[in-house]
Formats: sequence, C-alpha cells, structure tokens
Amino acid sequence: MTVKVAINGYGTIGKRVADAVSVQDDMEIIGVAKTRPNFEAFMAKKKGYDVFAPEDRIKGMEKANLEVEGSIDDMLERADVVVDCTPGGIGEKNKSIYEKAGVKAIWQGGEDHELAGCSFNAQSNYEEAIGRDFVRVVSCNTTGLCRVIKPLDDEFGVNKARVTLMRRAADPGDIKKGPINAIVPNPIKLPSHHGPDVKTVLPGIDIATTAVKLPTTLMHLHTVNMELNSECTAEEVEALLARQSRVRFVGQGITSTAEVMEMARDMNRPRCDMWENCVWNESITIYEGELYFFQGIHQESDVIPENIDAIRAMMEIEKDGTKSVSKTNKAMGI
Ligand code: NAD
Repeated sequence: MTVKVAINGYGTIGKRVADAVSVQDDMEIIGVAKTRPNFEAFMAKKKGYDVFAPEDRIKGMEKANLEVEGSIDDMLERADVVVDCTPGGIGEKNKSIYEKAGVKAIWQGGEDHELAGCSFNAQSNYEEAIGRDFVRVVSCNTTGLCRVIKPLDDEFGVNKARVTLMRRAADPGDIKKGPINAIVPNPIKLPSHHGPDVKTVLPGIDIATTAVKLPTTLMHLHTVNMELNSECTAEEVEALLARQSRVRFVGQGITSTAEVMEMARDMNRPRCDMWENCVWNESITIYEGELYFFQGIHQESDVIPENIDAIRAMMEIEKDGTKSVSKTNKAMGI
C-alpha cells in the first residue's frame, strides 16, 4: 500500500515533510497547498509536486502564472492523510474541513494538544498513534527533549528534569521576527510551557523549563539537568545516548551551533538540515548525583522524521515503532 499524503502549508516544515515523504517507498505526495504564488510555490512545482490553493486564491495564483491543480478540497479528496503545516493557530481552523473530507490529519507543535488528543514522538509513544485519525507531532524543542528523556527514564528513571532552553529568535528565512540585538526572557512568568508540552507525550515525567530568545537563527541550545532514580556514571549515560538513532554526538572542534550547521553543510544534508539532537558528549557530567549536558536542536528539521513515523502509525502500515524509525532513518540518511 502506498499512502497518499497531502501537505497543507508549504513553508519551513511543510516543504521538508514533502521531501521526506518523497524518499519513502510506502508513501507519496499527491499535492501541496499554498496560499500565495511565491518562490516556494514555484519551487514546489519545479520539484514536480501538484500545487493546490484555497478556492478564493486560485485566480490570483494563475494570474501570477502558477499552474494550480485545484482547491484544497480537491487535494483532500485524493489524500489518505494530510500533514497540516500551516502557522501555529491556523491548523485548528482546518479540523472541520478534514473531518468533512474524511481524511486523517497530522498537526504540528504550534497547535494545542487538545486539537488532536494525541501528541506524538516516535521513540516515546508510537503505539498511541496507531490507527488514529488525528495526531499532533510536538514542537522542535519538545521532540528534542522527549528523545533524551524517554531512554534515560527507561534505563535509570528520571526523578525530575530541569531544562533551560536558549531559543533561536527566528528561522533563517524569516524577516519578521526578532530580537536582533537583545536576550529576551520568554516567557517571563515561569516555568515555561515547554515542560507541560513534554508531559503531553510523557505524562509521568516531573519536568520544569525556562526559556530565553537569542538573536540567532541557528538552532536552539538546551542545558539539561536531571535527577535520576538510580546511580549511574557519565559513561553509562553516554553509552545509552550513543545507542539512540536520532541523537548525534558532536565534538571534534564543534563548540557552537554555527559549527554544527557548518558540519550539516559539509555532510551535503538537504537544506543543511540536522535531523538528530546534537549532544556534546564531552558535556555529559554527573555532578553531586545529578546529570548535566548540552544539546543543540535544529528547529527547522528535527520534527521531520517524526512526521513520517506518525503517518506510518496512523495508517497502520507498520505497527512496530522501532521498525518505522529505522525505515525512516534509512530512507532519509539519518
Ligand atoms: P511557515 O510560516 O514557515 O509556513 C507556513 C506555511 O503555511 C506558509 O507557506 C504559509 O504561506 C502557509 N499558510 C498560511 N496560512 C495558510 C492557510 N490558511 N492555509 C494553507 N496554508 C497557509 O511556518 P512553519 O515554521 O513551517 O510552522 C508550521 C508549523 O510547524 C507551526 O505549527 C509551527 O509551530 C510548527 N513548527 C515550526 C518549527 C520551526 O522552527 N519553524 C519547528 C517545529 C514545529
């Protein structure tokens, strides 16, 4: 069975999900929806994707010489599952359209957990998404946290996690957000929403987070601190994280997120994406019984393989999460 996938919202996340679907052998892109005839719409066309648009935008698109296949309703008619990658808060409004079309839907981390009723991270709760109609793939930060908390909890038990998130202010192609010359505690009222978001996937975890925005576009950086239930050494933690397929150790002179991105360029990764958590293994420390380490999270791309696994679980084409993760990784080159 080849699953027919539609992408609604072809921006930072949408275009990456489309390309990741295209390299899998059990799913295909049947169309992507754009609202504006901008360069991304023309690039989608050039890549061979059928472009759809909201009914009232089609004329404008055609006026700009962009060939449109039809409306979003037309696109949904052809699809088994739609991956909604519209800006946070917009996806919610699309739920009734998807219900009416009888199509399964995946939303992204900008939407609330309640919208889908299932928040997803492949290595943490794949089984929960099997056969579901609606799933939300959690945000880049939450994905990055789940990927390390889940195995540490399984192996040693996480008594509590305390994380400081240093967040990029904007994506590289985003000219509207900031700051460009300040460090912004955000939110000022603590703890931040990221901890509760992790609990939508891993409800049993005691986690609290703080977050600041920094004038950079290159990745988020997490300072992770945990109290574990069983005594362990830094070497044991390092060995455990080394076994996680979506965790990559960085060192060899990499001392910043800029160098991580440069390595992704050197690896010829598409769009210089870094799908894995980048953990500085040298930073893994047990100090007075508590675990500490740094990890970098590439906000534009770490959720992409998770969307692929969510499709497989919802469509029930693979019931074993470990097998889906391996298949996704192999096809994408992780
Ligand atoms: P984006 O702004 O880059 O892309 C959104 C796309 O949706 C744009 O192409 C826009 O033209 C289109 N769009 C806007 N309104 C639309 C509508 N009504 N119907 C159809 N398309 C519409 O946004 P993004 O960064 O890709 O974020 C998408 C989702 O992914 C959000 O929920 C966000 O929180 C989440 N997310 C973003 C990142 C990130 O770092 N960019 C990381 C993880 C998750």
